[in-house]
Amino acid sequence: MQTSKNLGLNKPIVSFNNLPNLHKKTLLASVFIIGAALLWPTPQEFSSQRIPVALDIESLLPNVAYESEFVDNLEDPIPVLDHVIETGDTLSKLFEMAGINQQVMYKVLEADLEVLALDTLLPGNRIQFWDDAQGNLIKMELYFNPARQVVFTRFDDGSYGVEDINIDGIWQNRIIGGEINGSFYVSAKAAGLSAGEIQKIERLLKSKLNFARDLHAGDRFSVLLNDQYVEGELTGNSNIDGIEIHSGRRKITAFQYTDGNFYDEKGQSLAPAFQRIPLNKNYRMSSRFNPKRKHPITGRVRPHNGTDFATPVGTAVVAPGDGVVTMVANHAFAGKYIVIEHDNKVRTRYLHLSSFKVRKGQRVKRGQLIALSGNTGASTGPHLHYEFHVNGRPVDPMKANIAEAKTLPKKELSEFSSIVRSRKMMMELG
Ligand SMILES: [Zn+2]
Repeated sequence: MQTSKNLGLNKPIVSFNNLPNLHKKTLLASVFIIGAALLWPTPQEFSSQRIPVALDIESLLPNVAYESEFVDNLEDPIPVLDHVIETGDTLSKLFEMAGINQQVMYKVLEADLEVLALDTLLPGNRIQFWDDAQGNLIKMELYFNPARQVVFTRFDDGSYGVEDINIDGIWQNRIIGGEINGSFYVSAKAAGLSAGEIQKIERLLKSKLNFARDLHAGDRFSVLLNDQYVEGELTGNSNIDGIEIHSGRRKITAFQYTDGNFYDEKGQSLAPAFQRIPLNKNYRMSSRFNPKRKHPITGRVRPHNGTDFATPVGTAVVAPGDGVVTMVANHAFAGKYIVIEHDNKVRTRYLHLSSFKVRKGQRVKRGQLIALSGNTGASTGPHLHYEFHVNGRPVDPMKANIAEAKTLPKKELSEFSSIVRSRKMMMELG
């Protein structure tokens, strides 16, 4: 996908060694099958030579080096608990089922502060616990979908490290188009777009088109989507690359550029610009974004995934851009926190809050009050911890490529135009 490549943020951070075991085996199997297919003699060769082929599989294995150090240390590679999340499951209950005590759960939660993945588990996701002979939790894996797993592993001192595994996989375009017959919603639904995709299109184009009034029977629409596949499976991650609506003589278009934002054909932004910080005033920055921050005692890397502002308790925190509140939660270490998903592949997080001013699922506008800052969770003093994620990866909010202008700058415009040309071509063919 061009978007992520250009941002340089969506590179798979997973190495072969980091893959969950099952995946390693699948990969290994496919490597082997491909290898065997290439080596296997054709039927003619086989019948003329009749030489039995003894494949020494063991000797092939070390070259692939799929066993991680960690797996070698496992006394028992079968998880002590392998559970599919159900409605009503709580973290305490899961740890109890695995026979792991609450103190260890808090150690895991401490590591979770870095990724905030535990609160996002949904029914259908999978959780696995592995212990050693002494009953210590040595590994815990959250399986969200084929593209994302989060793995906690135990260090010698009993604390845990966390790895957020994102596999980029393959992105494939899909075109959905049709004619308006009834409302846009009904027509687009019949053509195969999801409710979420339709709502997103209506939001993106609302300044250009009144969907209730301007569209008439016979008007046409075309949407270019990009779906993620990992190991041949749809992951559920999908992107809208382009939209074209022909309404009478008017043509309304929107294309997503590599900065995550949507522009019309001429490079005019469709959404109001983002503001750099989620505060109405400037406050002293008390800690910078630092992916290589070291723990003062253990010396281990504990990334600081956000920027801290020295805000007194009760300071107004505002949404830096339009979006949907996807999380309003209380975490042992993050304290009261909020997550907002924005339309431009950006997710923002606000930690250690004192009170919430929005609820989960609510749409918010740029500049809207969402919370008051505080000092909750594991916090060393009143401050706001603000995170800015692009394509699921934390980036420095103070340096991120935030579209602050309404029109694409000249130097970006030629690249944007060529992206638009090729997407329009696809949409016309589809
Ligand atoms: Zn912080």
